[in-house]
Amino acid sequence: MQEKIYLSSPHMGGQEIKYIQEAFDTNWISPVGPNIDGFERDLSEYTDGLNVAALSSGTAAIHLALIILGVQQTDEVICSSFTFAGSCNPIVYLGATPVFVDSEEETWNMDPELLRKAIEDRISKGKTPKAIVVVHLYGMPAKMDELMSIAEQYGIPVIEDAAEGVGSTYHGKKLGTFGDIGIFSFNGNKIITTSGGGAFLSRNVDFVQKARFLSTQARDNAPHYEHSQIGYNYRMSNVCAGIGRGQMEVLDQHILLRRKNFDFYRDLLGVFSGVSFLLERANTFSNRWLTTALINPEETGGISREDLRLALEEENIESRPLWKPMHLQPVFTGAPFYGTGVSESLFINGICLPSGSNMNESQLQRVKSVLLRLFS
Ligand SMILES: *Cc1c(COP(=O)(O)O)cnc(C)c1O
Repeated sequence: MQEKIYLSSPHMGGQEIKYIQEAFDTNWISPVGPNIDGFERDLSEYTDGLNVAALSSGTAAIHLALIILGVQQTDEVICSSFTFAGSCNPIVYLGATPVFVDSEEETWNMDPELLRKAIEDRISKGKTPKAIVVVHLYGMPAKMDELMSIAEQYGIPVIEDAAEGVGSTYHGKKLGTFGDIGIFSFNGNKIITTSGGGAFLSRNVDFVQKARFLSTQARDNAPHYEHSQIGYNYRMSNVCAGIGRGQMEVLDQHILLRRKNFDFYRDLLGVFSGVSFLLERANTFSNRWLTTALINPEETGGISREDLRLALEEENIESRPLWKPMHLQPVFTGAPFYGTGVSESLFINGICLPSGSNMNESQLQRVKSVLLRLFS
């Protein structure tokens, strides 16, 4: 069996080990230290001066964002249905109810018209949603102008889940900088990684100070341990932050490589009828974290996305159906949903192709030969 080709595996730039070595040499192994400060500074520069708290995961960042926005039991929080569970699980950690909103076809992200409909319907039922979690799936920017203006009209704060969208831009501005709070993930499969990790970003300094406080067990200012609130152990370690500093040096290069992967697949498969790709709209720039394709079996002569997935698997190449929408997940049965079926049909016909920035020429050729064998 040939060596496995992964969907998206960690890709070190080389300098990470230098920062980790410094952490060891100075014995800053804990969740304090110069790498955390340095990584937060790097992220702040990258996002136009936002305030940043480095955390243990993107999910932790969303959890704290919801707490800081005051979400409580009996509240409702609107969330993109077409996402990964990390976006909405923290709503349930707080005992609140997720209200899922479907995608539109141009970006595959939250449909502004359906968002408006959802807000109005929830208000008519007596409950104004407490927050909105907007996701930029696969790195493609959502329609932020429309979504933000609707949220502002109703006075509902927005958490921008840019876990998959680090480095993508919308009208020249980085994703994560549009919402009241932005979040990044540095999990192992993301465009840059700290092995596991995340970030909480905001223009609001108080929000970020609060996130730091809550992420280190909410310790009040006293010589002994004093607590007047419930805290969490969510801070990033200084060792992981060292990996992050090295990764920031190669982030823009990773984006170029991921975009090259996208061009490779589009040039290869775009010629076959029934295979289509999500294109960038005007004024949007995607990091192309994962290259995704839609396979319409009615036009491919019967080849489905599952045929494609299995053909790749047979050659030890990983691919994955597009994320299964949250409103179709057994665990969220019964949660309110506003939709037209767009995300469900994306799930049925869509596939994520191997997209690592560290894929070499021979790996790309292996993928290519499977794809051509199937479609030609
Ligand atoms: C990965 C991911 C998360 C969660 O981030 P973790 O760092 O894995 O906790 C949240 N939302 C989306 C869209 C993601 O892809």
